[in-house]
Amino acid sequence: MTTLVIEISNVSKSYGKGESKLTVLKEVSLTVEQGEFVAILGPSGSGKTTLMNIIGLIDTLDSGSYHLDGVDINNQSEKDYAKIRNEKIGFVFQKFNLISKYTALYNVALPLLLHGENYKTAKKKAMQTLHRVGLSERSHHRPNELSGGQQQRVAIARALIGECPLILADEPTGALDQKTGIEVLDFFRELNREGKTIVMITHDPSIASRAQRVVHVQDGKIIQKRESVVQ
Ligand code: ADP
Repeated sequence: MTTLVIEISNVSKSYGKGESKLTVLKEVSLTVEQGEFVAILGPSGSGKTTLMNIIGLIDTLDSGSYHLDGVDINNQSEKDYAKIRNEKIGFVFQKFNLISKYTALYNVALPLLLHGENYKTAKKKAMQTLHRVGLSERSHHRPNELSGGQQQRVAIARALIGECPLILADEPTGALDQKTGIEVLDFFRELNREGKTIVMITHDPSIASRAQRVVHVQDGKIIQKRESVVQ
C-alpha cells in the first residue's frame, strides 16, 4: 500500500484585503505519495512558492485542507507546526541560505545543535553527511570558499542531517550553471531512489523533466496533474 505524504485538497490562499486582495492559490488539490520525486512547474508569479510554503508549514492556508503523513495540519498549534517541520521536512533553496561566517561542517551541524544535540555527536554526523554529498574534504571551508555547486551540496547535507523523509527544494538549480544543476538533480534522483520523497519547484521545463512527475501550476491552479517522464 502506498502512503500519502502530502494530501492537499481545495486549498486557496489570498494576500491583502479589499480591493488589493490577490488570490494566489485557487482550490488547489495535490497528492504526493511516499517515495515520489515531483516537480511543480509554472511561470513566475503562478503561485509555486506560496504552495511550497504551505506544504513546508512556512505559511498557512485560507481554506481547504492539508494532511501531512496523515496529520491534519489545519488543527495544529504554532509549536506543533515547528515540531512537524523539524521532524519531517528538509529544505533546499535557490540561494543555498548558508551562514557565511560558519564552515561547511558547522552549517550542516547547525540543525542538530539547534535541537540540543551535543557538539561531538552533531559534528560526527555532519562529517558523515558531508561525506555523503562528496564534500568531506571541504568541511572546514566557508561558503565563499566553495563553488555554487559545492554550496548547494552543503545545503543539501544540511537538509539531510535530520533524516527527514521529505525534501522540499525551491528552484534548487536556479543559481547554478547547467552542468552543475544537472549534477544536483542527479543527486536528488539518487536520494529519491534511496527512499526520500522530493518536491521541487521550478519555472524551467527541462529541470522539471528530471523529476518522476510534473505538476503544472498556472495562475494559482493546477492545470494538469499527471505527466509521465522518462526516468
Ligand atoms: P511563484 O513562486 O510561482 O513565482 P509566488 O507564490 O511567489 O509565485 O507568488 C504568486 C503571487 O503572489 C505573486 O503575484 C506574488 O507577488 C504574490 N505574493 C507572494 N507572496 C506574497 C505576500 N507575502 N504578500 C503579497 N503578495 C504575495
